[in-house]
Amino acid sequence: MLVSETSASADDAVGGTPAPAMLSVRGLKKVYQTDGGEIEAVRNLTFDLRPGELACLVGPSGSGKTTLLKCIAGLMAPTEGEVLLDGTRVSGPPKKMAVVFQEYGRSLFPWMRVRQNVELPLKNQGVPKAERDRLVDEALEAVGLSHVPQSYPWQLSGGMQQRVAIARAVAYQPEVLLMDEPFAAVDAQTRADLEDLIRAVWKKLGVTVLFVTHDIDESVYLGERVIILSSSPTVVQEDIIIDLPQERDQLNTRALPRFTELRHHVYEQIQLAKKGHRPAASVS
Ligand code: ADP
Ligand code: MG
Repeated sequence: MLVSETSASADDAVGGTPAPAMLSVRGLKKVYQTDGGEIEAVRNLTFDLRPGELACLVGPSGSGKTTLLKCIAGLMAPTEGEVLLDGTRVSGPPKKMAVVFQEYGRSLFPWMRVRQNVELPLKNQGVPKAERDRLVDEALEAVGLSHVPQSYPWQLSGGMQQRVAIARAVAYQPEVLLMDEPFAAVDAQTRADLEDLIRAVWKKLGVTVLFVTHDIDESVYLGERVIILSSSPTVVQEDIIIDLPQERDQLNTRALPRFTELRHHVYEQIQLAKKGHRPAASVS
């Protein structure tokens, strides 16, 4: 049986000094009102992310992952509970956040070139031209798209389009980057490349990342921490530290016995959740 370490909460940091949470989700509940009645998408979610963490949130389809991200991003109000960013309640899209959605095809403007797409949020922020140019160049470089700044999104492959969406988020220099199953629609090889890209960008920028996926392997490979959601009614089933080496690569990391153990553990937790085993009281 795998000994899994439950992630430390924000108030038990090393040395007794509380590490302040960057992002706090507190008792979040979301009920949709529909013509057919009420749909409880999320029952009660509580967790914290500390500055610079790379956490994956994994849960079955329909468990409310997108609903949660929309609440965190201030695009939708929770029915109960709250989201705090640096201690301030989120009530609309915060400036410090960027979101990369699954449907990149719909998030890029087809009539704008790659460069303009990446530059747009900076322009809207009133960032001066020289600074904009520098940030866009750096972001395109970081995602390996320096060679196609003048292309239109529709001229690029799916994986490249998703990299444009990532470059746009990176250029914006967010403190928190939310990603909602961003690689679900690309092929396996591209997906592996994009996973490595996210870890590289995270290391370089020190940004706090919450990466949502339904793919167990992906959550373990990418995350420094994995928050496992139960199936509906959704709560946090478990919250584990991924104690794999910092330097990861697709071949060697996935071949580690520890990778297999962690993967097995996450899988088992999701199966338990499906069978209705609720988490222990200590894990909220
Ligand atoms: P996930 O992203 O984990 O697949 P979602 O957050 O998309 O889950 O959906 C969670 C639940 O909420 C599902 O049962 C879904 O059908 C329902 N749901 C999502 N969005 C809406 C909406 N706008 N109106 C009504 N029900 C919704
Ligand atoms: Mg979703």
